[in-house]
Amino acid sequence: MTNNVLPARVRFAPSPTGHVHLGSARTALYNYLLAKRTGGQFILRIEDTDTKRFVQGAEEELIEGLKWLGITWDEGPDVGGPYGPYRQSQRIEIYKKYAQELVESGHAFYCFCTPEHLTKVREDQQKRKLPPHYDGTCRNLSKEDAETRIKNGEKYVIRFKTPKEGTTTVHDHIRGDITVENSTLDDYILVKSDGFALYHLAAMVDDHLMKITHVIRGSEWLPTFPLHSLLYRAFGWEEPVFLHLSIFLKPSGKGKMSKRDAAEASKDGYSTFISELKELGYLPEAVDNWIALMGWSYDDHTEFFTMKDLVEKFSIDHLNPSPAAINFTKFDHFNGLHIRALTAEDLAERIEPFFTKAGHTTSRDVLIKIAPLLKERLATLDDAVEMAGFFFKDSVTPCVEDLIQKGLTREQTLRIAQETEKVLISKSAVQITVVEPPMRELVEKLGFSVGQVFGVLRVAVTGQRVSPPLFESMEIIGREKVLERVKKAIELLS
Ligand code: GLU
Repeated sequence: MTNNVLPARVRFAPSPTGHVHLGSARTALYNYLLAKRTGGQFILRIEDTDTKRFVQGAEEELIEGLKWLGITWDEGPDVGGPYGPYRQSQRIEIYKKYAQELVESGHAFYCFCTPEHLTKVREDQQKRKLPPHYDGTCRNLSKEDAETRIKNGEKYVIRFKTPKEGTTTVHDHIRGDITVENSTLDDYILVKSDGFALYHLAAMVDDHLMKITHVIRGSEWLPTFPLHSLLYRAFGWEEPVFLHLSIFLKPSGKGKMSKRDAAEASKDGYSTFISELKELGYLPEAVDNWIALMGWSYDDHTEFFTMKDLVEKFSIDHLNPSPAAINFTKFDHFNGLHIRALTAEDLAERIEPFFTKAGHTTSRDVLIKIAPLLKERLATLDDAVEMAGFFFKDSVTPCVEDLIQKGLTREQTLRIAQETEKVLISKSAVQITVVEPPMRELVEKLGFSVGQVFGVLRVAVTGQRVSPPLFESMEIIGREKVLERVKKAIELLS
């Protein structure tokens, strides 16, 4: 069961408690890839039993984010499936039944300890420098005692009766065997006093009932992993393969990503939240590629992967437990690679909303023409607006300082502009083949450098010192507008 061959049934089981970050997206991606790779199923399960942490809109954001990344599910709350419901808040009765079963088989017990008692126990343990753990008061209550107290209306939780002696060995596919002293494990709460099951019970029951073969999840679950295996054993169920992914470190590599680091990232125009990456001009393909390689590798040199490549090449045997530092420079690099892999039509379609948002009225035809000019130069899609906004302006007003190229006086610049205008007027089109040769002749004639002469023309026509290739751009802008802009530059310089 540990290989990539059998159809895997895997799940992504988020709690709708906030924004979806890169870490969750990677967990979802790996699960999805294993399902696709093996011809299995990928299940979306919403773990929404913690009503206190519930965030309005989080589930919608999650679904939108996954879809944007190209991650789709075979079973889930919206599409249904043979093992539903896929929302834990609709499965409360199921967990109750299984908790009951554990109590009856002696693997769990009712605990009536009051919060006051538990606080006192904890304070006591703190004083004695002991790790906090349940003191065992109700562990051995008789069945009759417990039933009477329940009848009398006493509040209770259900705890797992963790073995106190010996060790427990659990197996993680990425990390190997992990052995813990049972004395270090707590009698964890499985069902709270409000009757709601906690993750430990609910997720194990669901994974079993939903026939999950591989549990791929975050490493925050490593400390309670022994409990999870013990639960499977208590029920007598076959355990799935467990995989705990590497953690993400902040870009400096020092420590885990925190809220502060996320805020820092956003100051630099980056984000760790999936919902913001689209707006920032990242392609979902690049996000998938980047996060796939934060904890997995195919070989020691291949870096460009489409989703199709990932599905073909992914293997849980090449997952890596080492923490991965979030490297935004790499992210830009991947974004660039994927932008360059787009067709002109596709790139045009993706940059269009950025122009619209910036207030430009665009035309798809023009966007398709400028896409090839921009392709090599874009790190993010929104860069297109700054680079190519001049295509959609009726007029541009360059700064005189920008028009005057390095080493030129204002008078010399004016002369270049006037001579350029003459050349352009003498030609009936601004096609590169028509205007580039006479412009090069002009450079010779005037005795300035190509950079100086073309620089004046570039700033006049685009309003910018940096632009896509000059003559190709002029061709798209059209003769009339080019002439207007050169004329305006002459006026500004005069
Ligand atoms: N609801 C858990 C979380 O969001 C799921 C963990 C798991 O994948 O089992 O962390």
